[in-house]
Amino acid sequence: MKTVSSIQEWKAIRKTLKGTIGFVPTMGALHNGHLSLIKNSVKENDITVASIFVNPTQFNRKDDLDNYPVTMEKDLEQLQKLKTDYVFTPSFDDIYCDQYRYKVSENSFSKLLCGAHRPGHFDGVLTIVMKLFNIIRPDNAYFGEKDYQQLQLIKEMTHAFFLDINIVACPIIREESGLAMSSRNERLSKQARKHAALFYRELSSERPIAEICQKLQNENFEIDYIEEHFGRRFGAVTIDNIRIIDNVKI
Ligand code: AMP
Repeated sequence: MKTVSSIQEWKAIRKTLKGTIGFVPTMGALHNGHLSLIKNSVKENDITVASIFVNPTQFNRKDDLDNYPVTMEKDLEQLQKLKTDYVFTPSFDDIYCDQYRYKVSENSFSKLLCGAHRPGHFDGVLTIVMKLFNIIRPDNAYFGEKDYQQLQLIKEMTHAFFLDINIVACPIIREESGLAMSSRNERLSKQARKHAALFYRELSSERPIAEICQKLQNENFEIDYIEEHFGRRFGAVTIDNIRIIDNVKI
């Protein structure tokens, strides 16, 4: 496995690569959810490239960015074990050489759900993904259904900009309790992590949304939204000052 930080170095390597390239963009602090994407890519491609870049432009709260877990050494070990070929770890200054003067934005679905509660979040996400796609130039790119709205917006962006990249959706990997795996779960206290499983149980219950909201509020969850779109129920809540999101098919 080779770690590459320089965009120029990657571009030189990219010219020499033959066969299909699978790409898994991440913000690090890897868990089994991320690793399932890597496994799919390794299975389906000749070469797998992962990226680790905590993207500041998609954070709308400075404290969330400042507290985002960083576990680079452990991440690299895990990626190597799974036979990842390259890990791309660019710097902020190289990626945002334009100081974020140029951005990709969508003005319909990105304004709902997480977009309504995290202003600018999806501009940051779509912009970094577009930049990474243009640098890595993969054939297949892997995204988790855990961030379903993000996945949908990225699929539509590749279509809108005629990118020859196949977006592969990967199922949500959950902890034993049902809680969707997330890098932010590491910041929950042991007790809150156990309690957070209630969010998935309620979200996937048959009860109407109003009852689910009531129950979660009674159990000290602060609710951003619980809404249904395209046959899925989406939810975002805060517990123990940590925001968690999830979605289930209905
Ligand atoms: P992140 O590092 O949070 O930006 O996530 C990188 C990729 O991993 C995104 O495509 C996420 O949707 C995906 N991912 C994160 N958590 C999970 C999970 N529990 N199951 C499946 N995919 C996930």
